[in-house]
Amino acid sequence: MIKPYLPSTKVAKRLRTEQRLLINGQWLRASDGGLLDIYNPSTGAVMSQTAKATVEDVEQSVAAARASFEQSVWTGLTPAQRGKILWRVADLIEQHAEEIAELEMLDAGKFYADARHGEVPFAAECFRYYAGWCTKIEGRTKQLSTIPDQRFHAYTQREPVGVVALIVPWNGPLVQASWKLAPALAAGCSCIMKPAAQTPLSTVRLGELMIQAGVPAGVINILSGGGSEVGQRLTEHPAVDKVSFTGSTKVGKRIIDAAKGNLKKVSLELGGKSPVIIYPDADLTTAIPAAAHAIFANAGQVCVAGSRLYAHEAVYQQVTDGVAAIAKNMKVGAASDSSNEMGPLISKEQLNRVYQMIESGRKEGARIAAGGELIANQGGYFLQPTVLADTHHAMRVVKEEIFGPVLTTMPFSSEDDIAIYANDNSEYGLAASIWTRDIGLAHKTAADIKAGLVWVNCHGIPDMAIPFGGYKQSGWGRENGYEALLQYTELKSVIVKL
Ligand code: NAD
Repeated sequence: MIKPYLPSTKVAKRLRTEQRLLINGQWLRASDGGLLDIYNPSTGAVMSQTAKATVEDVEQSVAAARASFEQSVWTGLTPAQRGKILWRVADLIEQHAEEIAELEMLDAGKFYADARHGEVPFAAECFRYYAGWCTKIEGRTKQLSTIPDQRFHAYTQREPVGVVALIVPWNGPLVQASWKLAPALAAGCSCIMKPAAQTPLSTVRLGELMIQAGVPAGVINILSGGGSEVGQRLTEHPAVDKVSFTGSTKVGKRIIDAAKGNLKKVSLELGGKSPVIIYPDADLTTAIPAAAHAIFANAGQVCVAGSRLYAHEAVYQQVTDGVAAIAKNMKVGAASDSSNEMGPLISKEQLNRVYQMIESGRKEGARIAAGGELIANQGGYFLQPTVLADTHHAMRVVKEEIFGPVLTTMPFSSEDDIAIYANDNSEYGLAASIWTRDIGLAHKTAADIKAGLVWVNCHGIPDMAIPFGGYKQSGWGRENGYEALLQYTELKSVIVKL
């Protein structure tokens, strides 16, 4: 049974109060008073409630963001002043690290230590990284050739794209909100953030800290609520200039349709089905536990999860048995218990969806090398870490994103085969990892794989400086780095006749 968890005084107080919407600097109830329950995925119990934004709330927040942008409330500050405010956000995140980590644990089912030493410092670093960029957004001067006997001064400049709607999923609420808010604000945009309906807690706390740091009213707005109402209206809205979306490929395609009305800019961070490729010369003592971690961390609810394992036929059995042994020995349970090694899935719906995919794998002939069953004797949404071995290309479990702790394994015999398997077995192209001691082979395979991120002898290492995003149906554009910042800007060319 799950040990009851007693939240800290601060968090308990927060949970007792309704989470509100941030519109134009005010924390408000939904216009119709509507509420959504917030569940603790480790216990399945309702632990708090959040205001459920309405279309009217969307109108109010877009109007506030639009007014703040048109009145240069944010862009009227110097770049250095804006940078200092973003730096202050980072400091405040760190000052409240324990509380935010606790919220992330309760709401998103992350282990406290992972949130406290991973997600929270990473979110703070994100604000610091983009604080530095505020003073470094530049254009170029250009030499003209069109009219030889006249002189011109020509230059480009980067301007903020305007009002941006930022929509994120539930699997990394704090980090994903930060990955969008920090570059959007560094570029000078006014923002409307929509967290996933399941996980608003850390985003609301982040909003409070942003206001405390000095982000002006209207420049940051937060709307909790459902995707089909709030998300849809934001993406259709004619006064929104850009949508930056992280979520499923299915919803990403809807967003492209919804954005057509005013041809708003769209960037999309979508699904993944990332291959982990293990060559026979790899250091298996490192590669096997890393492959297990690549799929079972955060219960597989990670867009870059290494969910397809391809091991060379010479080591396939050893690798599959090794990962299966780790899976069988993992302690699964509440995120609040640090002795557990894998926590819950986010919701009952997600648990059922993932379980149905395991059933589909079973029916299509995959061998269950580990797990495969729900863990029914606890209140939360738990599933055994699962290894589906001896899979083949045509199986749904190999082609489709599962977004849970389910690994498929398959052998390969040559480096030419593996590029074909990795690229053709899935419509996604988000990430991959390659395990070998042969540096030439590593670079050749990295060049052959159609993915936005390739790791060699490691998996899942993020960094603020490294662009993050996908090929194929894993999305459009990139998060992180200078590249993400540019996506929140428009490029203007100016030609002056001298
Ligand atoms: P989802 O697509 O169902 O929802 C994501 C967000 O979109 C939520 O806030 C949701 O409320 C909102 N939404 C839903 N319908 C909408 C609509 N019609 N218009 C506008 N917004 C709408 O995804 P999910 O189940 O919350 O998250 C899991 C998915 O996210 C997985 O596919 C995963 O791979 C992906 N993901 C991708 C990345 C990445 O960086 N590529 C990172 C994390 C998660």
